[in-house]
Amino acid sequence: MPEIVRSGSCLCGGVQFHVTGEPLRVGLCHCKDCRKTSGSAFHAYAVWPLRAFETTGITSSYGTRSFCPSCGSRVPFAGDDEAEVPIGSLDVAPTEGLVPSYELWIGRRELWLHPLPAARQFEHDRIADDSAEGDEPGAEPQQRSA
Ligand SMILES: [Zn+2]
Ligand SMILES: [Zn+2]
Repeated sequence: MPEIVRSGSCLCGGVQFHVTGEPLRVGLCHCKDCRKTSGSAFHAYAVWPLRAFETTGITSSYGTRSFCPSCGSRVPFAGDDEAEVPIGSLDVAPTEGLVPSYELWIGRRELWLHPLPAARQFEHDRIADDSAEGDEPGAEPQQRSA
């Protein structure tokens, strides 16, 4: 069975990417940094192994967040071994099969939002444990965002 390939881009199309296979994890973050950089109430993202991620086009970065310098859209951030993909940058919506399994910084969640059923709730950054799906040691340096 061929692996699923999901494509995405920034708004202007200058940055294109795709990810192959299923992500390691999918999460929501309500932290201040995610709110500020997205301009939205929270940040929804999925993390793939870097080897599953391919991209073209010029990006700029601020910390662990990347964006298109032409249109300002958030685009995936490529770390040392993982790529964090903003769910909204994917081409197809709704994103079938990408369901957040955890939420971060829930103390900053808007009062009109409710905890996702079955999603682990973290007061602050994620604490990796053995039961988490696909977590690897060393996956934590991007703790500000993922
Ligand atoms: Zn763009
Ligand atoms: Zn965050």
